[in-house]
Amino acid sequence: MVMKKQISIQSFFEKYPDDESCYRYLAEQKWKDGFSCQKCGCNEYGKGYTLYARRCKSCRYDESVTANTMFHKCKFGIHKAFMALFRIGSKKKGISSTELSNEIDVNQKTAWLFRRKAQQAMKSKSPVILEGQVDIDEFGVGGHRSNMQGRSLEGKKHAQVAVEVKDGGRMGRAYALAIADFTTPSLRRVFDWCVHPMADVRVDGFYGYRALMAEYPNMGYELSDGGENFKEIHLVILNMKNWLRGIHHHCSKQHFENYLDEFFYRFNRRGKNIRKNILGNLINRFVSSPPLTYKDIMELCGLSG
Ligand SMILES: [Zn+2]
Repeated sequence: MVMKKQISIQSFFEKYPDDESCYRYLAEQKWKDGFSCQKCGCNEYGKGYTLYARRCKSCRYDESVTANTMFHKCKFGIHKAFMALFRIGSKKKGISSTELSNEIDVNQKTAWLFRRKAQQAMKSKSPVILEGQVDIDEFGVGGHRSNMQGRSLEGKKHAQVAVEVKDGGRMGRAYALAIADFTTPSLRRVFDWCVHPMADVRVDGFYGYRALMAEYPNMGYELSDGGENFKEIHLVILNMKNWLRGIHHHCSKQHFENYLDEFFYRFNRRGKNIRKNILGNLINRFVSSPPLTYKDIMELCGLSG
């Protein structure tokens, strides 16, 4: 998994030299399909109070470029917010909130909150359906190794990964979901979510998949044979586990899934041409998502109560 090409810091500053250029970009994105007043639906507007804001000609509602977006009530300036998204998106393995707090010079809690918002923006809402050869496997992180045989779930978090394998072992897209156990209803979630019914699914012969054979007629069992088969998916899982190391100890199931989504957001954008556009994609996701409060974030991360 090579992820070298990134847009450079120079090109970031060329594109976004100041607050004005950031607001202009947000306005272009926000109203790219035309203006429609949030309060009354009127399509006519005049100049609003803040930079690039628009004021409805009918009800006089003044909408700033950040209103009703995830940039709303951000504790620091817009240029810094773009910079933060640039850092979060361009670092191969992402960035911790401590690093972010140092890099953009905001306090830890503010950096933490922004980092979580970015993570929400990276969530896979509508996956591209995986086709052709699709390998599916499960893995666990955390917990204590038991001496007992079998797959113990105690203290461990488990996930199921689906990877498209192209000709010559090249990997296509991949997604993962957290699983509560190894029963068929749990194992089928990833199929329902992102696998085409006619895909040539390969699983490593685990019992819980048998009941899905009727719906996925091209599914086959193959033993993983000491890693010789399923090489690609095991590589993805290894990378994923390395990335998750140190995180899973204090993370809830919901939070775990947020991290899975974040990993695969980057994974699915590892080609150099797509990587270049991560910043644009994150900004657009911020613009098209409703504001999130601290309380919302705590809930979404499973951290409240
Ligand atoms: Zn209006």
